[in-house]
Amino acid sequence: MTSRLFTNIGSLVTNDPTLDRGPLGVLENAAFVVEQGRIIWVGAASQAPASDRCIDVGGRAVLPGFVESHSHLVFAGDRSHEFAARMEGKPYEAGGIRTTIEATRAASAAELELNTRSLMQEYTRAGATTIEVKTGYGQSAESELKSVQVAAACTDEVTLLAAHVAPPEYRDKHDEYVQMVVDTMIPECAPYASWIDVFCERGAFSEDESRAVLQAGTAAGLKARVHGNQLTYGAGVQLAVELGAASVDHVVYLTDADVDALANSSTVATVLPGADFSTRGTYPDARRLLDAGATVALGADCNPGTSFTTSIPFCIALAVRDLHMSPDEAVWAATAGGAAALGRTDIGAITVGARADVLALEAPNHLHLAYRPGVPLVAGVWKDGQTVVPLNEEDN
Ligand SMILES: [Zn+2]
Repeated sequence: MTSRLFTNIGSLVTNDPTLDRGPLGVLENAAFVVEQGRIIWVGAASQAPASDRCIDVGGRAVLPGFVESHSHLVFAGDRSHEFAARMEGKPYEAGGIRTTIEATRAASAAELELNTRSLMQEYTRAGATTIEVKTGYGQSAESELKSVQVAAACTDEVTLLAAHVAPPEYRDKHDEYVQMVVDTMIPECAPYASWIDVFCERGAFSEDESRAVLQAGTAAGLKARVHGNQLTYGAGVQLAVELGAASVDHVVYLTDADVDALANSSTVATVLPGADFSTRGTYPDARRLLDAGATVALGADCNPGTSFTTSIPFCIALAVRDLHMSPDEAVWAATAGGAAALGRTDIGAITVGARADVLALEAPNHLHLAYRPGVPLVAGVWKDGQTVVPLNEEDN
């Protein structure tokens, strides 16, 4: 058993509310000790216990690793031309997804896994230590099963999103597609997943269809999460709260009743400003959610159609500039908020007992994440105490 002391830290973000230093629990002149993948001590560097090894982080800020609670990484194909066309003034239409469905169906599991792992590496280099991965580009029984197996090979946080949009061959028979999701895809895919998700939106799935999918998923032992209220007002938020979903994601178009429902429930409101940025869409009003008392998470939503970024730091910068979150709120949302959106209590904080999933920034404090947009500040990453992105001077 080897213990390691992380020391010479700039600001340390703990997310420990009991420290009475705001929600981020920021400590100066602090250190912490990791053993067997867990944090076993946090406190003043001057009082650090003896440890087997020392990691001098060179005055850099240290934060919990980012928790990405929303990504769509199991896909093949390229949609850069669609993006360019959209930037030239053509509005986003859900039809673009069909390109990805065709390429994903044609790809082998090995190809899909290679692409998924490559994108997860990008996420990790940008500081993410937990990454939820959704299916949703297979959209046939065979291809969703292939996708969910690929996701399960890559992460522990797997979400079945068979009900993403109805594929082209079911465009005029939604009810048959929903029936296939409920009768075939959920039973076959549930052993590989933890979560059931649905895109509850005009043009995707109605409230009743969404409820049927979510209830079938929960009956199969999956926990619910929802894509809702992204493009229009709708039933997504209320349905998520009604069914006790862990999170409802996008939350751009909200009524006062939707905000109240989120503020008075355990369902997390997850904002995904990378999607609004990349589609020139409307940003969610995170300020309104926070002021009402809702729990807000922040993710990058990496997907080939509407948000092809794996950079949580970029999304923190967007959240601060365009969603009017404070830098502290945005960092909390990308760490502890993401953990809450995944129902996890073992990640998203640097506290005794938590997994040693941490990152070091090439900066003295976490404010630089929003202050220095687009700069790759993540200098070191550890997951379960193991180095995944080494600091230059780390003694391995
Ligand atoms: Zn999504």
